[in-house]
Amino acid sequence: MTDQKTTISRRDKRRRKRATLCHCCKGEFSFCWSCRCGFAICQECMYENQWGMTCNGITWECPDCSEQNSYCNQ
Ligand SMILES: [Zn+2]
Ligand SMILES: [Zn+2]
Repeated sequence: MTDQKTTISRRDKRRRKRATLCHCCKGEFSFCWSCRCGFAICQECMYENQWGMTCNGITWECPDCSEQNSYCNQ
């Protein structure tokens, strides 16, 4: 009797990259700061525009709808 045991090493690639389009540089990023209106901005653009988007470093103002968005609550 031949018992052939085949070990299938299945590697489930769970690569779910949700790319978000940065409205500023039009690039795709895995992480973007986003507003409820749909506006999204990448980390880099946020950093570059921080002077105009935040005054306290805790919240940032959406240039589209002027909504105050928190930096920590995503
Ligand atoms: Zn960007
Ligand atoms: Zn907005």
